[in-house]
Amino acid sequence: MKVIIVGGGLGGLACAIACRRESIEVEVLERSKELHELGAGIQIPPNGSRIMRDFGLLPQLLEKGSQVQEVDFRRYKDGHLLRSMPFGDDITEEFGAPWVIIHRVDYHRILLDEAVRLGAVLVLGAEVVDISTEEPAVLLADGRRISADVVIGADGQMSTARKAVLGAPHSPVPTGDMAYRATFSREQLEALGDENINELCKKVAVTSWLGPEKHTIFYPIRGGNEYNLVLMRPDNLSLDCRKEEGNIEEMQESYADWDPTLQKLVSCVQSVYKWKLTHLTELKSWTKGSVALLGDACHPTLPYQAQGAAMAVEDGAVVGKLLGLLQTRYLDPKGSGTSSISARFSAQDLTAAVLALYERCRKARTTRNVQGAVMNRRAFHIPDGFIQTFRDFLLGYAGVTRKSDWTWLSSFRQRQTLGIDVVEDCTKAFEEWRASL
Ligand SMILES: Cc1cc2nc3c(=O)[nH]c(=O)nc-3n(C[C@H](O)[C@H](O)[C@H](O)COP(=O)(O)OP(=O)(O)OC[C@H]3O[C@@H](n4cnc5c(N)ncnc54)[C@H](O)[C@@H]3O)c2cc1C
Repeated sequence: MKVIIVGGGLGGLACAIACRRESIEVEVLERSKELHELGAGIQIPPNGSRIMRDFGLLPQLLEKGSQVQEVDFRRYKDGHLLRSMPFGDDITEEFGAPWVIIHRVDYHRILLDEAVRLGAVLVLGAEVVDISTEEPAVLLADGRRISADVVIGADGQMSTARKAVLGAPHSPVPTGDMAYRATFSREQLEALGDENINELCKKVAVTSWLGPEKHTIFYPIRGGNEYNLVLMRPDNLSLDCRKEEGNIEEMQESYADWDPTLQKLVSCVQSVYKWKLTHLTELKSWTKGSVALLGDACHPTLPYQAQGAAMAVEDGAVVGKLLGLLQTRYLDPKGSGTSSISARFSAQDLTAAVLALYERCRKARTTRNVQGAVMNRRAFHIPDGFIQTFRDFLLGYAGVTRKSDWTWLSSFRQRQTLGIDVVEDCTKAFEEWRASL
């Protein structure tokens, strides 16, 4: 079996690794001429790091990244600590994998090196402009046409593959929020000579300030040599603009009445981009024939649960596993497949059926994730007043693990997201599908 993956982002590369682990031939077509990830941080929650553990990449992840020890929620106005949730070993104990913070470039590099080591072919400067769902095949901007048994559209929010699958353009919906993203060096922060900032920098923690209509996230990357700051607020970009250079004064103004410690962090930002935050709640279809979508191409989300890339990586692991099971059971003449099934259905029909199974395995979970991020938006951005005070009271007892959560509700919700082995579940779903044939 040969699989073309359109897009060499985090989701596409995870899919390439999963396919190569099943001995599937893989070609990754990436539009960019050079490999790039954003110069920013990323959180890898346990459902993402579990996939990395299964790929045998956890040691590399922990060498480049760090295990989060606490998540601290602070009041926007004065930085008062509302709740410090223990993460660290509690998380690993409960979910079997750590919560990691890492530079995006390092995460991308780990996945890329592994995909190439396993034999995936990566083609840079290969922009896919059209996809035929019949054959299937992709058409490149330079006129080349490449066919394969399966095409996976891992081409992000403005996906070309999505258009091919749906038969019409379908854009993600603006959420009403945007994000400023910035990183600084340890030296920049130390130069401030501020005791509170020095305290903040000592911790391997994700710190979030919650305020009306806005919140912010701050954490160390690269062993505390760099720091990542993301500032979320109401969107003022024009409707069709996804990203543009931000105005530093406008950004500082947006947080002018916030905790002085946060304001000092904001004062370190020297240049910044602002991003429109969009999402898709439930795409009608993720697959057509032997073409399927994954990651931000089919379920972009507000980043308010740190789950977008984790879900993309899960998608990649699941679709790779299912295609591997299909190949060894039915399509490989030496495999253990039931010959009567191979005789009754064409390879293309079986492939389409397995991709439909992939969509069934993933859709409810990723839709819940997109909706969960919207719920977090409501909870994080509550205006001053009684409801905010009540939120803060509840937050004071909330946690992600059974051990740290006195409200029970919060950890119950987290278990549905962080505690599920999606690869094991899809293997079971494959066996059920097989039995139903
Ligand atoms: C502010 C912010 C913070 C976030 N924080 C987190 C976090 O902490 N944790 C988390 O899990 N997620 C987070 N996310 C979400 C996460 O970044 C995305 O969900 C994830 O990167 C999606 O990966 P992907 O591989 O699906 O798409 P992308 O990363 O967008 O990759 C798509 C790739 O396809 C290529 N491509 C596009 N079109 C074509 C074409 N026509 N032909 C060939 N190649 C093409 C692109 O160049 C790109 O390399 C955050 C998002 C934002 C905005």
